[in-house]
Amino acid sequence: NRIITTDVMEEDFSLEGNLRPQTLDEYIGQEKTKNTLKIYIEAAKQRHDSLDHVLFYGPPGLGKTTLSGIIANEMGVHMKVTSGPAIEKPGEMAAILNNLQEGDILFVDEIHRLNRQVEEVLYPAMEDFAIDIMIGKGASARSIRLDLPKFTLVGATTRAGLLSAPLRDRFGVIHHLEFYSKKELTTIIMRSAQVLGVEIDVKGAGEIAMRSRGTPRLANRLLKRVRDFAQVKYDGRITYDVACFALNLLEVDQYGLDKLDRQILNTLIVNFKGGPVGLDTLAAAIGEDSGTLEDVYEPYLLKNGFLNRTPRGRMASALAYEHLGFPVPET
Ligand code: ADP
Repeated sequence: NRIITTDVMEEDFSLEGNLRPQTLDEYIGQEKTKNTLKIYIEAAKQRHDSLDHVLFYGPPGLGKTTLSGIIANEMGVHMKVTSGPAIEKPGEMAAILNNLQEGDILFVDEIHRLNRQVEEVLYPAMEDFAIDIMIGKGASARSIRLDLPKFTLVGATTRAGLLSAPLRDRFGVIHHLEFYSKKELTTIIMRSAQVLGVEIDVKGAGEIAMRSRGTPRLANRLLKRVRDFAQVKYDGRITYDVACFALNLLEVDQYGLDKLDRQILNTLIVNFKGGPVGLDTLAAAIGEDSGTLEDVYEPYLLKNGFLNRTPRGRMASALAYEHLGFPVPET
């Protein structure tokens, strides 16, 4: 159980509801997305119309669900939440759509994981606000069209490229969510601390922000863990020293790397002279399967320049040598 995973952990549940901003003004960062949404929402409200279908894509924990809730809130409508893997049959999707009220938001997380038949129910629903239902079998089968209330589909996915073209084309608005800066995360942490009733200073918040991998979900989770340390070991107040002490104990370092990340880099440098080494060999050396190494561990290391991918395999970068305290090789 990595504390720095961006997947939702059980401990997030009790937390995320309360910490979710409710309005666009409370939502920190993602300025471009926020500004465009503001205009779309305003225009739709003036026309007394529903919003165009919206697709958010970007890594987990950056605020896609939160934004969808904010849209519903700002439009004054209900939001129904579901996810791609949760809907197995076309009939289930038809039932969900049929139960929506005029103007409602349907939020579909991991929308790229809808199966083909379920996805096909969405095409006429998104385009014409109708579903086609087949009645009878064989030669006497015919399809009848059921009208739906006008609704807004908000889809979330980690990569827009994972969506089939016909589905992607039916979204009027597509937004990419970016990783947050340290400054933005500091603001988010200060706000969350206030909601949780925790005393924290800017330097303490900044230290948690720096180690949160640009991700609000992680920032909130680390804040909660640091709060526990502050409460038990100190006077409850989170300062720079308290944050450092707690995060060091949790083994999350200044770059947001945890023990496993460092083990990967260490193995690469010590066992393989910094590489290049093939993915499978490296995975075997750290006792992980290569799929997990590639999908879960590698992206952050690659993105932050600790690891390089070459045609001959993975290589440790100069930054990796420096960070782990090894002399950087000449070439
Ligand atoms: P996603 O749907 O992209 O996985 P969520 O919307 O569930 O991410 O966000 C995870 C948590 O991070 C939320 O509970 C919320 O508290 C917090 N969060 C996300 N974005 C922001 C933001 N811009 N400002 C403040 N808190 C945020």
